[in-house]
Amino acid sequence: MADELLKPDELISRLDYKTPKTGWMDTPAVIRKGMYCYSANPKSVEYVGMPHARKWNPIDDDWLLPENWKEIVLKGLKDRLDKFRSLKIFMDICVRCGACADKCHFFLGSGDPKNMPVLRAELLRSVYRNDFTKAGKILGKLAGARELTVAVLKEWWYYFFQCTQCRRCSVFCPYGIDTAEITLLTRELLNELGLNIDWIATPVANCYRTGNHLGIQPHAFKDMLDFFVDDLEEITGLRMEPNYNQKGADILFITPSGDVFADPGTYTCMGYLMLFHYLKVEYGLNVTWSTYASEGGNFGSFTSHEMMKRLNSKMYAEAKRLGVKWILGGECGHMWRVINQYMDTMNGPADFLEVPVSPITGTVFENAKSTKMVHISEFTADLIKHGKLNLDPSRNDNIRATYHDSCNPSRGMGMFEEPRYIIKSVCNNFFEMPANTIREKTFCCGSGSGLNAGENMELRMIGGFPRANAVRHVHEKYGVNMLSCICAVDRAALPALMDYWVPQVKVTGVTELVGNALILPGETPRTTDLRGEPLPGMEDEDAE
Ligand code: SF4
Ligand code: SF4
Repeated sequence: MADELLKPDELISRLDYKTPKTGWMDTPAVIRKGMYCYSANPKSVEYVGMPHARKWNPIDDDWLLPENWKEIVLKGLKDRLDKFRSLKIFMDICVRCGACADKCHFFLGSGDPKNMPVLRAELLRSVYRNDFTKAGKILGKLAGARELTVAVLKEWWYYFFQCTQCRRCSVFCPYGIDTAEITLLTRELLNELGLNIDWIATPVANCYRTGNHLGIQPHAFKDMLDFFVDDLEEITGLRMEPNYNQKGADILFITPSGDVFADPGTYTCMGYLMLFHYLKVEYGLNVTWSTYASEGGNFGSFTSHEMMKRLNSKMYAEAKRLGVKWILGGECGHMWRVINQYMDTMNGPADFLEVPVSPITGTVFENAKSTKMVHISEFTADLIKHGKLNLDPSRNDNIRATYHDSCNPSRGMGMFEEPRYIIKSVCNNFFEMPANTIREKTFCCGSGSGLNAGENMELRMIGGFPRANAVRHVHEKYGVNMLSCICAVDRAALPALMDYWVPQVKVTGVTELVGNALILPGETPRTTDLRGEPLPGMEDEDAE
């Protein structure tokens, strides 16, 4: 965590929701340390063939823009207004009612009016008015129009990389204006000038090069899973070797690589291995992992529609190569938004795969008829509902869990019930956070859409404040000590957020809780959970 980061109380005491003295157009953006991410490494930009790769620094006056930068942006905006009817509508129909204004976690945590969704969109809309509407051309500022200048461009970069594309604001907008789409399209325009951030550009290049965002080679991916196999053998007495790149397997499993490489996602990954082992032994299910399509997360969705499409297609190419029936996806956020909202029009329908049917319960996953990709929580909830898993929830009795609806699976695909059903089946103590902070109204972790970097900690902590506040509420009221979720970015971002705001609460994936509770045929009596901590009632044995 950055040294300069203020203590929680100090950060809160700085919060100021007073109306600024100057109008928003006359208040220039000040790019402040702790609130922005480093610029994209030119090598990464170049690697995927994106334009204007160069070294530049956000706090320098000169961003080394191409000479015709303005022409590039305005042409890019025109192309997108022609192509995306939604963008044209979003530019025209906002009545500035303000219903969205206090719904963004970044506004709530910062008090900065430019983090109100309505004003964030206005940053682009004002330029749209100036160059694409009659009223703006004639009346200028009176009609809310302003010219595109370098200062405006810098303001775009600063504030469109302070939006996590979480879509909470769109839930409250009477017109359904989706600021996340506006953010994505403005980021596309910025990318036309080489103005990405590195925590997006380098993961994109890595996914393109090695199949996962950390740039891990296939053998290292396998090595990591081998470590988990060893750990699981110690915990259960059983060796559960996964299949890799197996042609003709029933199902290809793809999860975010964060689950393979970073705690606490690694424990969720161990939960997947246990579940697949159980299903193989009990029902003969043949699941394969891929060391090539080794990333579910789609960092392209923070860059451009084109990049999103390119990274999504890799998973389907691998499914085709291996000849599997369908794809099972792990606990991920943006992968699922891309699958549910964009996959069909970008790369689908995936007709070379079968409509997913659980070979164990016979359930047809109608919702995945076209994408041929089923979420691990749907799959697991269906197994539990049909009594196919042998579970001992008391093994999670030291856990008092709440559930964070990750933005993309909840608002992007409507997945509310399945994770809750699973948690309640494997854990005896479950408590909901307040109703206006969960389900479709869930608060973002504050670090999504590529903002999970180390240099923008103040931004992440203020953005995550509303979520953390709701966690603190259930911690104080019910003694909640575990925040569960179904997103790898959450598992990477929430531990730092909890350490900062509610240090008594840890973070877990839902499948980790399943792994703890799952009774595997032939296992030795377990004394610890997947983290190596003593199971409830085993604390004394551990001390001996
Ligand atoms: S709620 Fe919708 S219409 Fe109202 S200000 Fe926000 S974006 Fe505009
Ligand atoms: S999409 Fe999320 S982060 Fe972006 S403006 Fe809306 S509420 Fe804020």
